[in-house]
Amino acid sequence: MTREILLASKTGFCLGVDLALKKLDLALTQSKKLATLGPIIHNPQVLDKYAQKGVKIISSPQEITDEDTVLIRAHGLPAYLEAELKNKNINIVDATCPKVKKAQILIAKNTQTNPLLLYGEKKHPEVKGLISYAQNEVLLFESLEELKSLTLNTSLTYTLASQTTQDQHEFEEIQSYLKNKKIQFKTLNTICNATEERQQEALKIAKEVELMIVIGGKMSGNTRRLAKLVSQVTSHIHIETKEELLEQEIKKYKKIGITAGASTPKEIIEEVIAKLKSIS
Ligand code: SF4
Repeated sequence: MTREILLASKTGFCLGVDLALKKLDLALTQSKKLATLGPIIHNPQVLDKYAQKGVKIISSPQEITDEDTVLIRAHGLPAYLEAELKNKNINIVDATCPKVKKAQILIAKNTQTNPLLLYGEKKHPEVKGLISYAQNEVLLFESLEELKSLTLNTSLTYTLASQTTQDQHEFEEIQSYLKNKKIQFKTLNTICNATEERQQEALKIAKEVELMIVIGGKMSGNTRRLAKLVSQVTSHIHIETKEELLEQEIKKYKKIGITAGASTPKEIIEEVIAKLKSIS
């Protein structure tokens, strides 16, 4: 059976991940003792590759030794942790994505007098970083449903911001909801356009196919959101590597779409396509 495969054009590393990994590669040529505070990106295959090159993942500044070079990952760090690192006598490579940095600065500037309403995942490292820049009370919510359960004050003006990789469509619904409830707010444009474009394209392809394959780390927030988005319009599977493709499952579909998260390497996507093509 001939199977049609529609591959999204916006796959592979986004600018922030690409920059962070280039900085890590360069640092590896200059230092033998390299550590990242938390995983550099949420892709286990990439992390394995760097672990084999000796890159350590640490979970707190207390684990750092004087000889270490410490890389701040694309998601950024909470302000107090960054300050703690800078107080140590160590080399620091800041690989915070410029768009995350921009979101941190915007939040700091726009919460001097306004409480922050933040649309983001509670446990996500980027969100922990963004919260630390707020100069005022923070109300964090993961969905429109959760926002509806919060008690908001109509006499205050809130600053509304989002984790960079959140769903643009839901963010617009959030703004409509707040307007309807007569809540005063100022919106910060912190959703990354790379994420938005990837989501829109994935959705477009999902509408044309019988099965959508989403490739990327199971811990990657932006990959999980792509999976959630396409699941609203078609069947989907979320895989990390070609090994998870089940031949019997694939054989049921004539038209398959492929998208991938911002931390998924091109080689892994190519391997999935090659395996799909080998299934008759
Ligand atoms: S998805 Fe956007 S904000 Fe996040 S690391 Fe990539 S470029 Fe930066």
